[in-house]
Amino acid sequence: MLIQEHVPLAPLTTLQVGGSARYLVEVKSLSEVCEAVAFARTRSLPLFVLGGGSNLVVSDAGWPGLVLKVSIVGTEERSEKDKALFEVGAGEDWDKLVARVVAQNCAGIECLSGIPGSVGGTPVQNVGAYGQEVAETIQSILAFDLRDNQMRELCNEACGFNYRTSIFNTSERGRYIVLRVTFALTPEGEARVHYTDLKRYFSGWQGVPTLAETRDAVRKIRASKGMLISPGDDDSRSAGSFFKNPVLSPEQYQGLSDRAADRRLRIPNYPALEMQRKVSAAWLVEHSGFSKGFGSGRVGISRKHALAIVNRGEATAAEIVGLQEQIQQRVEDIWGIRLMPEPVFVGF
Ligand SMILES: Cc1cc2nc3c(=O)[nH]c(=O)nc-3n(C[C@H](O)[C@H](O)[C@H](O)COP(=O)(O)OP(=O)(O)OC[C@H]3O[C@@H](n4cnc5c(N)ncnc54)[C@H](O)[C@@H]3O)c2cc1C
Repeated sequence: MLIQEHVPLAPLTTLQVGGSARYLVEVKSLSEVCEAVAFARTRSLPLFVLGGGSNLVVSDAGWPGLVLKVSIVGTEERSEKDKALFEVGAGEDWDKLVARVVAQNCAGIECLSGIPGSVGGTPVQNVGAYGQEVAETIQSILAFDLRDNQMRELCNEACGFNYRTSIFNTSERGRYIVLRVTFALTPEGEARVHYTDLKRYFSGWQGVPTLAETRDAVRKIRASKGMLISPGDDDSRSAGSFFKNPVLSPEQYQGLSDRAADRRLRIPNYPALEMQRKVSAAWLVEHSGFSKGFGSGRVGISRKHALAIVNRGEATAAEIVGLQEQIQQRVEDIWGIRLMPEPVFVGF
């Protein structure tokens, strides 16, 4: 196990901003996890667990402690009743897993094609897109509990999944290192084509789209929105969507629709749990004066998607946060809604 010092973190993230880690170690097994944790403990170093770096804003000061990069790989397959179980190392690349299960004609994560990052990162914010989220197929998670240095097998219910949340980014933030995730998928299952963009893509299509066709469609739609990491596409130098879609109480929603009606506008909205409404953060951003392509300096908004703040080259974390705050303030002034950021802030 090699412990490196003063390692630049920007190249390990998709947004590519921020300073260095005082120490960084890549762990490939449980014993290396234990060793790395002991290294941090004996030196009283704060620990940060890094996956694929696709949901992070690293501060310009970097991370003063140990960054533990999870690189545990390997996938085991087995059948249980009518399900195909895939037990996957947290360090595996997420999209490669989706490609693999789709090629084996297993349904359940095809709409999550093209999301960057690691398998271990997906439960943290209950990754979701195009009408699916990982909470629907995660059967269990094997995690290292930093409270007592024990391994824990967490069942789906124990993970407390909700919209972009789980215990891993709320009540138990910083407690667990995800080592392996088990997905229960449906062999020969049908692709889920419920989401508007997908339905539009397949309108006029002959027959039901296959899993492979659905994966292909999702990746094409994502690419058109700069939401697929592509080397030549400056608009994909981001952390994905920068703000969560606000989930509003009936009263809050009524207030917002009244403000929109005053301007002869109607805000896109969807039902959420317990009479709540989820409203489009992208719409709020665009209707607050931040259109696609906003900004001319080193930081701006993607030309393809109003929710992605992009590093146009050599940006600092401070500049990213500056634009984030400007957007939050303007949206709040006009619409009375405080947008909450989706990425994780490291070292702020
Ligand atoms: C272009 C683009 C498009 C995106 N599209 C989507 C989308 O459609 N839907 C969506 O939900 N997200 C999307 N994202 C966000 C991001 O890809 C996901 O949240 C992804 O799952 C993060 O995984 P990661 O391995 O990169 O985690 P990181 O960014 O490395 O870390 C994110 C958080 O997870 C924690 N973490 C990571 N691995 C582990 C582990 N093994 N154990 C414990 N904690 C861990 C970290 O400590 C951190 O708190 C997008 C991002 C980009 C750049």
